[in-house]
Amino acid sequence: MTQSRTNSPQFDNSYVLLPEHFYSKQKLAPVKSPALIRINQALAEQLGISVDWLASPSGLQVLAGNEVAPGSLPIAMAYAGHQFGGWNPRLGDGRATLLGEVIGKDGKRYDIQLKGAGRTAYARGGDGRSPLGPVLREYVISEAMAALGVPTSRSLAAVTTGEYVMREGMLPGGILTRVCSSHIRIGTFQFFAGQNDLEAVKILADHVIARHYPQAADAERPYAALLRAVITRQAELIAQWQQLGFIHGVMNTDNMLVSGETIDYGPCAFMDNYHPNTVYSSIDSGGRYAYGNQPGIGQWNLAWLARALLPLIDKNEELAVQEAQQALDDYVQQYQRAYDGVMAGKIGLSQADADSKELIEELLQLMAAANADYTLTFRRLAELAAPGGYDGDSVADLAEVPDSLCSWVAKWEARLASDSVDARERQQHMLRLNPAYIPRNHLVEEVIRAAVDDHDLAPFHRLVERLAEPCRYDAADARYATPPTPEQVVARTYCGT
Ligand code: AMP
Ligand code: MG
Repeated sequence: MTQSRTNSPQFDNSYVLLPEHFYSKQKLAPVKSPALIRINQALAEQLGISVDWLASPSGLQVLAGNEVAPGSLPIAMAYAGHQFGGWNPRLGDGRATLLGEVIGKDGKRYDIQLKGAGRTAYARGGDGRSPLGPVLREYVISEAMAALGVPTSRSLAAVTTGEYVMREGMLPGGILTRVCSSHIRIGTFQFFAGQNDLEAVKILADHVIARHYPQAADAERPYAALLRAVITRQAELIAQWQQLGFIHGVMNTDNMLVSGETIDYGPCAFMDNYHPNTVYSSIDSGGRYAYGNQPGIGQWNLAWLARALLPLIDKNEELAVQEAQQALDDYVQQYQRAYDGVMAGKIGLSQADADSKELIEELLQLMAAANADYTLTFRRLAELAAPGGYDGDSVADLAEVPDSLCSWVAKWEARLASDSVDARERQQHMLRLNPAYIPRNHLVEEVIRAAVDDHDLAPFHRLVERLAEPCRYDAADARYATPPTPEQVVARTYCGT
């Protein structure tokens, strides 16, 4: 016991040092008989957290919210937000408890948070709990996103609670330990701005500058620089989502971190067939957060951050508005540049230009018309990119490039031939940019069913491990790369509430 106590994380908390109305102190709500599902060893090591301690009885008690580790000061954070366009002045962590912050081996600060550890001051009618399914879902998808190189919240551990939660029936409960560089949302700024608490907005902005964007402190207008920095990260993040066919599903302003990491893996999904109108979320009946709308919604959300920061940007309101408007206008080019660049790379071109943009646009139109699988079509193009073909395991058996793309392929090959890049090198690069494995809906659903219905967690572990190397295709694991059959298609995804 003494041994494992000394191994517990070295907390170094900064958010609790902010004014008391930024959060609410959280008493833990113990669960009956927690059991460990999985520890993310690689992440624990990066964070300098002992894997032995996490796996120890006292580690388990902490991951279940049953005990407070030394140095941990549990809080629930206050925030507001626009949900599906509607203003909600008081949201906050209803089922999430921030245990504290640690400094990782990279010298950076990380939040350690439990999700599903019980009611908080912001729980309203909710039970503060999470069913096991959404915990596994978030673990799989967030870790897959990290492996795909997308900035994201991470999953450090998952446990079962030994208790049931009431949803559409009684479901086994789970708790996820979530890690990200902070849980500060656009909605956190809105919480204070909505109450005209300018002093709090300034304290929060200074905290965010010190924590995430220290270079903004030296700018002529630090808060305008902060806004610009957040905008840049968000533009780059959403370009990453788009290039992977990732649909967040609930891009409410309370689900957008100012650090530029993806958070809130609720009804999110990766597209199978390409279509810009794709929506999976059961609650997004209007398609507000459809795949093709994500870049525009990103800007809409950022406009609310800009509005919250306005009084800090310049005392002269007109100047402040001008500055903020310019930053928001620039988002469009920043997003487009990031997207064009990464899409050019996906088809093997070293730089985006008018040609590459035309090729991509045409390709996507053809893919939409042909119901082509988004991920495998690009992967297959990577295999075809070198004249000698590809000698590794091929996804050709899983999805062939549709015949209707033939003339496009000829045009593309001609364009590649005019590039001076070595074909093999180009192919290697494309193979690294075009994954074979993504957390497809039907795979995620399958591991959840096995865990919940059959108490079998082995499929979950296998999927997590397979998705850790998304770009190294192995034909022995073809089933993890195969698009769903019509019977397997999961057309609707649900919030993790
Ligand atoms: P989300 O859809 O996960 O972004 O959550 C929206 C809001 O509802 C946030 O304030 C959450 O903390 C809160 N919430 C979601 N589920 C629960 C729950 N089971 N108990 C309490 N609050 C919840
Ligand atoms: Mg949320």
